[in-house]
Amino acid sequence: MAYRGRFAPSPTGALHFGSLIAAVASFADARAHGGVWLVRIEDLDRPREVPGAAEAILRTLRAFGLHWDGQPLRQSRRTSAYDAALERLTARGLTYPCACSRSEIARDARPGAAGPIYAGTCRNGLPPGRPPRSTRLRTPPGVVSLRDRIQGERSQDVAQDFGDCILRRGDGLHAYQLAVVVDDAWQGINHVVRGADLLDSTPCQYLLQQALGLPTPHYAHVPLALAAGGRKLSKSLAAAPVDPAAPWPALLRAWAWLGQAPAPAESRASLADFWEYARLAWRIERVPTVARACVDPNAWASIGD
Ligand code: GLU
Repeated sequence: MAYRGRFAPSPTGALHFGSLIAAVASFADARAHGGVWLVRIEDLDRPREVPGAAEAILRTLRAFGLHWDGQPLRQSRRTSAYDAALERLTARGLTYPCACSRSEIARDARPGAAGPIYAGTCRNGLPPGRPPRSTRLRTPPGVVSLRDRIQGERSQDVAQDFGDCILRRGDGLHAYQLAVVVDDAWQGINHVVRGADLLDSTPCQYLLQQALGLPTPHYAHVPLALAAGGRKLSKSLAAAPVDPAAPWPALLRAWAWLGQAPAPAESRASLADFWEYARLAWRIERVPTVARACVDPNAWASIGD
């Protein structure tokens, strides 16, 4: 089947080095396979959206020579598709209404690898007198095992280790886990290359695909770029936006960070030359598996040759 990949940024700020790594890896992998590469703007979370960020991200991708196919899809236009999926899940008895407030969820949750695990308070019915706020997935029991192209074989007991994820939030907005599964299938995505912060969400997405009768793409999770001190780059003040006016330092740094062979001088004559080289040179098996700290992505100093 022809390769179809995507990059799916959330417009919550400018493109930083961590997102650039995901963009470079998914683009290189798609082009190395002669595949299609789509961009999807994940603008579901309107309260967190930064005005102008989506356009800025698209401009930055272009400035790095990351040219996508077709028109970017915006999740804000896909509400009826998410509603339809939610109805199908509900008709199959796979959802339940949840009355818990944020503070109740936080109070009763267990800590988990992907964040707090919901205690399941409303799983067997709403507490008396409490109105429903959100809708959750009734996670089926059992262990999900998936082979990640970078991280290898991964197993998770989703009900135990991830919990019943939110599908529709208290403010009425559809949740990421639902939207990503619906859209990956609708766009015919069969290869997902993205940041390893989503590795622990993948088994839950697999269960949603199964429940909705949708195919499961191949997954590859690139290791996270950490800020000095071990914090996630995107959460750090060190998450400097990459500079669209001077893409080369961050581009070569992202390429090196992904463990790829250094681009020879002649491939640096233009972005088109670089990507032609990258298309042939890309080796996903060279991508390291562990998160590492990164330095200022826009500085030329210490880019290994
Ligand atoms: N929108 C998500 C993010 O920016 C990525 C979702 C995905 O690749 O599945 O972190």
